[in-house]
Amino acid sequence: MNELDRQLAELMGNSPVQWLDNPFPEAVPIRLFLKRDDLLHPQVSGNKWRKLKYNLLAAQDQGFTRLLTFGGAYSNHLFATAAAGKLFGFQTIGVMRGEELALLPRNRTLAFCESCGMHLHFVSRNDYRQKDTPDFIAALRTKFGPCYVIPEGGSNELAIQGTAEILPEIIKQLDYEPDYVCCPVGTGGTVSGLALSATNETQVLGFMALKIIEAAKSERWLPITTYHFGGYAKTTPDLINFIRAFEQKTGVLLEQVYTGKMLYGIYDLARNGYFPEDATVVAVHTGGLQGRSEVLDT
Ligand SMILES: *Cc1c(COP(=O)(O)O)cnc(C)c1O
Repeated sequence: MNELDRQLAELMGNSPVQWLDNPFPEAVPIRLFLKRDDLLHPQVSGNKWRKLKYNLLAAQDQGFTRLLTFGGAYSNHLFATAAAGKLFGFQTIGVMRGEELALLPRNRTLAFCESCGMHLHFVSRNDYRQKDTPDFIAALRTKFGPCYVIPEGGSNELAIQGTAEILPEIIKQLDYEPDYVCCPVGTGGTVSGLALSATNETQVLGFMALKIIEAAKSERWLPITTYHFGGYAKTTPDLINFIRAFEQKTGVLLEQVYTGKMLYGIYDLARNGYFPEDATVVAVHTGGLQGRSEVLDT
């Protein structure tokens, strides 16, 4: 086993399933568990780790020493890729939309990426829109040399292979199949992995972190579209207060973009009788705490 395999084996599969006794402002008749993927690694946290795992192995197998990916200024995926690159000895390039000058001084996320050695490459909005086209990617390869390309948000087929390992771990840890498994949805790579690995015993619920016109239809998972709180990364005082109260009661930190909205949604559905009495509901804590708002500490 080489170093990457060894380190991955050590790090993965070590996130506990935690029972939460009465975590909400009001008691609800479900048994709620958290799959603590936020604990997988302090920097390469949560679902981004799951999504990178087989991509890192593929990059290594194919002889690449450089990873290139895409993301926004607060991207958990860029943050995780930068950290993983440093950890496993890949050079990393982060392609971003926007004028470089507009982003100085660097925010916390980008400062961290650069501290890991990631090279940030800024392109125009127009160019960024081409990010999945072969021509644009070929031009980046000409500029930076051979690189293993990971799409924005980290979601590709190998990512889904990684997120498909979450539910089997949960079932092993609980020793039974939960009635529901829930995760937040951005690009959908995480929920797709849950859906891929779920049997008929488990309903997969995906809590949309963004406003969508029409939910992607899937027979294998159900989109919950009503808890986006105004759109991607938008918040309301109600959401912020909910997260503060949850954190105080459970000692588990959330953030306001993904996990806070999912848990608010689970709470709201449960108090409105959505789940059958005593249903077992497992929520995947997908991490992302690097992007946790300081407002939550005040
Ligand atoms: C990126 C991210 C998500 C969204 O995952 P997708 O696979 O893109 O749907 C959810 N939660 C956290 C904390 C994330 O960082």
